[in-house]
Amino acid sequence: MPTLPTRYFWELTQPEIAAQLKRNPLVILPAGSVEQHGPHLPTGTDIFASNVIGHAVAERMDALVLPGGPIGVTPMHMPFEGTITLTPETYQRVVIETCVSTAQHGARQLLVLNWHEGNIPSLAIAAEALHRSHGMTVLTVQACYVAEELYGQSSGGLTHGGEIEALAVLAYRPELVHLDRIEGSSDTARGRKWDKLRRTRAYQPVLRDIKTIAPSGWYGSPEHATVEKAMQMLNRIADAIAKEARETFRMLEEAEGGTAEITRLRPVAV
Ligand SMILES: [Zn+2]
Repeated sequence: MPTLPTRYFWELTQPEIAAQLKRNPLVILPAGSVEQHGPHLPTGTDIFASNVIGHAVAERMDALVLPGGPIGVTPMHMPFEGTITLTPETYQRVVIETCVSTAQHGARQLLVLNWHEGNIPSLAIAAEALHRSHGMTVLTVQACYVAEELYGQSSGGLTHGGEIEALAVLAYRPELVHLDRIEGSSDTARGRKWDKLRRTRAYQPVLRDIKTIAPSGWYGSPEHATVEKAMQMLNRIADAIAKEARETFRMLEEAEGGTAEITRLRPVAV
């Protein structure tokens, strides 16, 4: 595999990007948010998680990591000062226009790697548009759920501000995690009950406010998170996503001929 100094699009030069897109037309879009995560984790937790995992996946799949923009759709967290949200319409446009730009430069396969549940409906709409109107082969992975599947048991589940999220930031920049400031976790049983309810396939209650799940804004037990565990988690998640994505893209190419079927469509302006 060719060695690039980094997989982050915005850290590379023009000739490096041109050569890379020619060699492999796969790009990864990290999706996350900027929102409060209690007193111990940075507001960028979700976008840092998707960037660091996206980069590890890109190394395994010889891909580029796009600058997707840090902000997502998170009205539920707006009662807290450490939150910035976009409307779903704005977010969809940011995602679509970012990816269409790279499609114009030759990107054909897109892996959307998301770590923020509030983005899921918008990403589904954007992914459809990028496939049907812009000819990209698209796979979206909810990386936070991959983390939950692999580490839910050992890390107290996927909770807002809990161990899994602390590990994700530790894998990115350990100095941004303040385990000495952990304070005021909301009741875990209450948080679990609501998170379980809103993550079922059949029933989706719409919550106005994170305080319904966690009155203090977060819950969980991040106190035993370490950098060593974090690197282990990062590698395991990246291995799992790269394996599954490789196989799914292969199946899509085989079943649908990649983008051949829709390249006849005229690209539509965003
Ligand atoms: Zn989060």
